[in-house]
Amino acid sequence: SFDVLVVGGGPAGASAAIYAARKGIRTGVAAERFGGQVMDTMAIENFISVPHTEGPKMAAALEEHVKEYEVDIMNLQRAVKLVPATQPGGEHEVQLESGASLKSKTLILATGARWREMNVPGEADYRNKGVAYCPHCDGPLFKGKRVAVIGGGNSGVEAAIDLAGIVGRVTLIEFMDEMRADAVLQKKLKSLPNVDIILGARTTEVNGDGTRVNGLTFEERASGEIKRLDLEGIFVQIGLIPNTEWLRGSLVEMSERGEIITDAHGTTSVPGIFAAGDVTTVPYKQIIIAMGEGSKAALGAFDHLIRS
Ligand code: FAD
Repeated sequence: SFDVLVVGGGPAGASAAIYAARKGIRTGVAAERFGGQVMDTMAIENFISVPHTEGPKMAAALEEHVKEYEVDIMNLQRAVKLVPATQPGGEHEVQLESGASLKSKTLILATGARWREMNVPGEADYRNKGVAYCPHCDGPLFKGKRVAVIGGGNSGVEAAIDLAGIVGRVTLIEFMDEMRADAVLQKKLKSLPNVDIILGARTTEVNGDGTRVNGLTFEERASGEIKRLDLEGIFVQIGLIPNTEWLRGSLVEMSERGEIITDAHGTTSVPGIFAAGDVTTVPYKQIIIAMGEGSKAALGAFDHLIRS
């Protein structure tokens, strides 16, 4: 059994494991896929002090750094159930898909999130080749170019406003006949000279030349007419889904969107259970933020251990 068991091996989990192990306590990491979303990323240019790197390279560096310490890494292990301790000071249990079960005095939940995809032809083929999900990450790659933002919720409209300051032209495409974003954001968006808004449109295909995106096909829902936009980039902003399905019914309190609610110390609603990174309510999902949150959760867990 562990003092600290980290579930998830992305930037948050790796950082938590290192901070915990550096306290000389028994630390384990169980992860479905070490590296997390970073494995799906091409260029990373906003990890401060590293002007440019690539996802798989950073993921390998994360693992290498964790391996500098005595951390029990259990890769390719999917957690399916959490059974919190029944009494104060008791051990929490994490059940794995393999049938095994792990016990620990404290837990750090760092199972991350995944972007909701449009699931249209071309989307997967052109991922990182014009199809993007993170405006903070990839916006500058489209400087002066034409891009579409899919989704008129808060994140879509924020992305469109953000991108309008960087790219040449932004077309926001919303499925419904109106945008769901806050009125103040919609007003700001409509005031921008290089933004077009298309409502009631269903994206049907991502077009490309075999190497990169060169257009987007959509159906005007009212008329059924099929139209095409020529462009270089598509930002999909239809939701970030936290990987918390496995926590349902576990007493760990979650927001309406299924994100684990944490406080400034990474504490969840269950004593001894901490959480960090994209899986939590922390705003702005980024690598550098996930790492900071992971280290905070580990220090929070250590603090909890020395007090109990
Ligand atoms: P994740 O990276 O999602 O890691 C979650 C971990 O938990 C993984 O190891 C996963 O396998 C594991 N896991 C999930 N469910 C379970 C389970 N049930 N049991 C066990 N393990 C589980 N951010 C930037 O700062 N800069 C960028 O340039 C950038 N580009 C991006 C490009 C793309 C295409 C994507 C998808 C994201 C990008 N991001 C970028 C965002 C960044 O990757 C995330 O904010 C960051 O990875 C979050 O770290 P995390 O550790 O919280 O979660």
